[in-house]
Amino acid sequence: MEFNWKETKLPAATCPYCNSKNDAASSPEGHTPEPGHYAVCNNCASLLKFGENMELEPVFPDEINYLNNKYPRFMQKMSLMQAAVQALRREKEREWWMRR
Ligand SMILES: [Zn+2]
Repeated sequence: MEFNWKETKLPAATCPYCNSKNDAASSPEGHTPEPGHYAVCNNCASLLKFGENMELEPVFPDEINYLNNKYPRFMQKMSLMQAAVQALRREKEREWWMRR
């Protein structure tokens, strides 16, 4: 497997689910984020969408169902990204716990 990792600096946007600030986007496939693109929150792993001004918007269940039906491979990749964020988060929590 080959990665074409790309990190793009963005104006700080707040996750509508967890309120964390995201000011960068990483793409394992070298994409540059644009309005209408989907993203995964780096903190809570929620599926998000970039708005007109690159603000972070929630993706509602109807849209998620539509995407799952229409673009199953894409949604599989998003699930992998969500799993990666959750695994990193668990790792950070474990480290924090060990340092106490
Ligand atoms: Zn979040």
